[in-house]
Amino acid sequence: MSPKKEKVFCAFCRTPHEVFKEKSFGLRHMILSGLASLCLSFVIWKTYNPKSLLFFVTGLMLAEVFLRLRWRLHINCRTCGFDPVLYKKNPEQAAENVKAFLVKRQAEPGYLLRKPLDLPPRPPSQTKPNKLGPSSKSLSTRI
Ligand SMILES: [Zn+2]
Repeated sequence: MSPKKEKVFCAFCRTPHEVFKEKSFGLRHMILSGLASLCLSFVIWKTYNPKSLLFFVTGLMLAEVFLRLRWRLHINCRTCGFDPVLYKKNPEQAAENVKAFLVKRQAEPGYLLRKPLDLPPRPPSQTKPNKLGPSSKSLSTRI
């Protein structure tokens, strides 16, 4: 029973990566937690004891926390640092995190050997005006 993963594409850089499908506990975790609590009951009290329900509930709580943490840690894009959960709550903060991640990525020594990112083009209204004027574009072609 290996954890099921789903292949998704990053919403920002379109890089494929895998994320865990399970976000919360299911029937499988309930059965495993029940069996574990039953075993603990027989180990501790030599028979079934209703106090073992506490182990069952604790096991479910641990499973929920573990699954949530695992899902949350793997949902981020490892290529560009985009966090879709944060983007839904605070898009500006998500953009700042991606910028910081890309700056940090450029500082790494293997940056030039990596595959370039397939970043979305900026709309013309957000591009910076060219300080050198319109002839600067043709300057690079003349050299
Ligand atoms: Zn990405």
